[in-house]
This record gives sequence, C-alpha cells and structure tokens, in this order.
Amino acid sequence: MADTLSRVPISLGPRAEEMFPTLAPAQIARLATHGRARRVAPGEVLLEAGEKISQFFVVTAGRIEAVRQTATGEELVAIEGPGQFSGEVSMLSGRRGFVTFRAIEAAEVIEIHREELLTLVQTDSELSDILMRAFILRRASLIARGIGDVVLVGSTHSSGTLRIKEFLTRNGHPYTYLDLDTDTGVQDLLDHFHVGVDDVPVVICRCKFVLRHPTNREIAECLGFNEAIDQTHVRDVVIIGAGPSGLAAAVYGASEGLDVLVLEMNAPGGQAGSSSKIENYLGFPTGISGQELAARASTQAQKFGAQVIVAKDAKRLFCGRKPYAVEIDDGSNLIARAVVIATGAEYRKLPVDNLAQFENAGVYYGATFIEAQLCGDDEVIVVGGGNSAGQAAVFLAQTARRVYVLVRSGGLAESMSRYLIRRIEENPKIVLRTHTEVVALEGGEHLERVSCRDAQHGTVETHDIRHMFVMTGAVPNTRWLDGCLALDAAGFIKTGPDLSPDDLAAAHWPLARLPHLLETSLPGVFAVGDVRGGNVKRVASAVGEGSIAVSFVHRVLHE
Ligand SMILES: Cc1cc2nc3c(=O)[nH]c(=O)nc-3n(C[C@H](O)[C@H](O)[C@H](O)COP(=O)(O)OP(=O)(O)OC[C@H]3O[C@@H](n4cnc5c(N)ncnc54)[C@H](O)[C@@H]3O)c2cc1C
Repeated sequence: MADTLSRVPISLGPRAEEMFPTLAPAQIARLATHGRARRVAPGEVLLEAGEKISQFFVVTAGRIEAVRQTATGEELVAIEGPGQFSGEVSMLSGRRGFVTFRAIEAAEVIEIHREELLTLVQTDSELSDILMRAFILRRASLIARGIGDVVLVGSTHSSGTLRIKEFLTRNGHPYTYLDLDTDTGVQDLLDHFHVGVDDVPVVICRCKFVLRHPTNREIAECLGFNEAIDQTHVRDVVIIGAGPSGLAAAVYGASEGLDVLVLEMNAPGGQAGSSSKIENYLGFPTGISGQELAARASTQAQKFGAQVIVAKDAKRLFCGRKPYAVEIDDGSNLIARAVVIATGAEYRKLPVDNLAQFENAGVYYGATFIEAQLCGDDEVIVVGGGNSAGQAAVFLAQTARRVYVLVRSGGLAESMSRYLIRRIEENPKIVLRTHTEVVALEGGEHLERVSCRDAQHGTVETHDIRHMFVMTGAVPNTRWLDGCLALDAAGFIKTGPDLSPDDLAAAHWPLARLPHLLETSLPGVFAVGDVRGGNVKRVASAVGEGSIAVSFVHRVLHE
C-alpha cells in the first residue's frame, strides 16, 4: 500500500479550517454521550470506501487517514487528528462513502451510529452547524476535484451522455468525465474493460462495475443512492416530486417530526434545477443556481430525517383505500396516511416530427453550465418568450457567439419580466426574432441545421445551428393520477376553494368539512407548486405552498 500511496494530502484551499475543523473538548464530550469509545490498531479500517455509511467517528487520540482508490493505487485525501471527524454529505443520506477511513497509528475514536448522529444534529444547533458546514464543503470539494467513484466515458454526440452528466450533477455525485472525442487514451480504457464504442456512454461505477448505456435507475442502484423501501411501513406523508415545492414540504414535514418519504423520478431540483441562475428568490441578492438551491434543500431535508428516493417514479395512486398507497414503477408500494403531490410540470415540446432524435443531442430544455459547455462559442437558438427563455438567453450569451431568441408573438413585453427584456435589448450578442417559429430540424447523430418560418412574410430560412434551447412553457405531470383527483381543463390539480360542489360530489367527498387550502378532492391528499391549478409558477410560491401544505397535513393526521 505504502509505495503506491501519495503521502501528501490534496491541497484543500482556503476553507480547509471549516472543512476539517477541530472540535472543542465540550463539543466532543456532548458527542461522546451518543456513542462509545473505541481503540483502533495501526492500519485498522474503520470505514471502507464503497460501503454504505452507518457510523460516524470522532478522533480522540492518534491519527486517522482518509484515502481513496485510484487506477494506480491510493491517494491520500486527508489526515484527521484529535478533535476531527469523519464524513461528508453521504453521512446524511446513508449512501456509499467515497473514501476509506484507516488508522495510521494506534488511535482512539468515539463511534456513533448514523441514526444517533442524525438525531443529535436536530437538537444540538452548535454541533449541527459545524458538522453540516464541514460535510457540505467536503462534498463540494470532492465534486470540484472530480473525486468520486464514477468515471463517465461519453461523447458530445450521444444524448445519453448529457442525461447521465445531469443525473450525477443534480444528485450532487462527483464523477470524472472522459470524452471519447477529445481525450487521448480513452480508447485504451475502453479496451481494458472490453467495451465497444457503440456501448457509449459507459459508466464505470465504484471502480468495479462497467455499465453500458445505463439508465438513471441502474446508476442509482449501482451507487446505492436509495435505501430499501419498507412496503409495510405506514408513513405520515409521502411526497411525490423533489422540485422546490416537494423539497419544501419535506424540510417542513421532517423538521416538525413527521415521518416523511420523498419520491423523485429523476434527481432533486425539478424545473428550477435546470435554471442557471434564479435571481428573484428571496434572500439571494446575487442569485443562486437551481442546482445549488436544490442540493442545499435536499441536504436540509435529509438532515431532518426525510428519506429521499431518486430515479423512481410514481405510477399510480390507489385512491380507493386508506391509508393511501402509491405504486412505484418497480412494482413496490409506498403506504402513507397523507400524500403531497408536487410533480410540477414538464417542458412543452415543439411540434416538429424528428424532435426526439435530437433531444440532448442539440435540443435542450434547460440552460445550465453543463449545456453551456457543450455549446462553446457556437451560435445558439432559444425558443420562447417567457422568463425561463430570457434567463437562458442572457446566460448563454456569456459564452455563445450569438443567441437568437425566437418568439411566435410580436414581442416580449407580454410574457417576460422587464429586467430580462432590458438585458436582452442591451446585449449585442442577443438577436430577437419575432413572429418566428421552428419548422424543421436536420442532422445525423447531432442537430446540425434548424429551419424557421417568418409568419409575417411566409418565408422559411435554414441556418447551421447545432444547439437549440426549447423554453416554451410546461404541461402538468398529472397523467399518472388516472382519474383519482379533480383536475381543471388544462390538467392541473384543483384544490381547496377551487373545488366546486359538483367536483366534490363527483369525487364522493366523504367529510362534513370542506377541503383545506391545497387539499385535493381526496381527503389527506394535497397538491403544491406548478402541478396545482392556479399556482403562479415561481420558486417562491412552490416553496411557500410546500410549507403550507405541511400545516394541513398535521391537521389531517389528527382527524
Ligand atoms: C429554466 C427555468 C428557469 C426558471 N427560473 C425561475 C426563476 O428565476 N424564478 C422563479 O421564481 N421561477 C423560475 N422558474 C419556475 C420554477 O422553476 C418552477 O415554478 C418551480 O420549479 C416549480 O416547482 P415544483 O416543485 O412545483 O415543480 P417542479 O420544479 O416541476 O418539480 C417537480 C418534480 O417532480 C418530479 N416528478 C414528476 N412526475 C413524477 C412522478 N410521477 N414520480 C416522481 N417524481 C415525479 C419531477 O422529476 C420534478 O423533479 C424557472 C423554470 C425553468 C424551467
């Protein structure tokens, strides 16, 4: 081991003190009451990389090293001395750890079960602050340095590559990316694992398993993202969807002592996760990326004990039974006394025949730094006249050579905030094309040309454009509810005072009281955020509704 191990820890940068703080004796004493003292022999392994995290360690004597496996041996990540402790964000989620925690010399530690630690951070705010900050900074540092247990081998020409990049990034999972088109030596790596070029994208998971063209579900399973679901356990509340509204419901529900499970078909963040910068969310004067907001919220929910399941979608709500059951696409059921539906909306597609061929291979529905990197300084098109289109245009103009904004209407004034219109007008790289719609797409594996029609003049022009961002609004994710709840004409869920006497009669509303605010036509089932009829489609309102719904969940649970 020693000859392949670099003994110099990786440079940790200016926040090393906060990342690896030393606890005061009084803080260690408080932790000690929740665990047991343990002697460790030199070389003894306390945690093995790749194992699910079940223990937390505080070093009280000696030194413990954190090392990670590399292709050539081991790399030293950190050395922890007395008063320092193990762990990063996986400690909260119970996912697999990235590093091996091993005694350099005879040492002593306090060993605490993960569940005990989660209970402690909810009651001891001083320790909670120190641990939480260290865990988050350590994870951010792992991500920034690409230190993880995943290598993604992909190509800019494969749509699966972008999907997997987004899935790992949105789940806050560090990975190393090797691009077949530009990185030399990648072919050797593929040969090493007997992988053909047609198998791309390839995920090498936990340095062991080679997944060819994997689904998000397969990646989640290999990386142990999800804890097993106990199908007999009746939860207080199951939340479907981990966008801003679902995450808010999870944070408020779990922090108020409810037994909460969140089910998310992709990764936390929802539509907000595809925004490069949200500038109008209260408390973030310089803006915050949707991914960062979602990562913080997801960590916060797990800190309070909410279970978050990703890459699995709700297929059906069994509305004729109590407690309610939600069927997941793997066939298992989640049982709950109350349900919060926070499934938001999905992007509206353009009516172009071969659109699906280019999705994630030139056609995108989100504009984050991942897509911006793919575009480089090419010319790009943004379709749509709403705020999300305006944000995307302004963001992409930072790197793209030119950004064409296409709208079918005569201008932006009706649909976009004034601050964004002004930024678009002042940016010489952004060109607004009104009365214009996309009529055809061409290309092979990747989008190469876009044809647009000018409705005023009836002319069609074709341009060499390789990247098009579709930001034309969204339709509600309610198909899976299959008639269980009253919906409005556009398919959004009706709640509270929007439910007419006829709606309630048709739904056989069984109670003497009327539905609470945000309650659907089924008692104890709530709808929040963009999926709800009448919602104003903002991050703040989604968060607000998620938190309000929880106060009514309490009432329903006491009924
Ligand atoms: C590009 C972009 C930029 C934006 N910028 C801003 C902004 O600057 N300011 C602002 O206030 N608003 C902005 N918005 C709007 C804001 O993001 C939404 O209003 C907000 O995300 C709605 O939150 P939500 O939780 O209700 O739904 P969503 O964010 O849509 O989240 C729903 C979640 O449910 C999941 N889901 C769906 N169906 C299922 C199922 N069957 N099973 C399990 N999970 C499921 C989805 O995968 C998704 O993660 C923007 C939107 C976009 C697209």
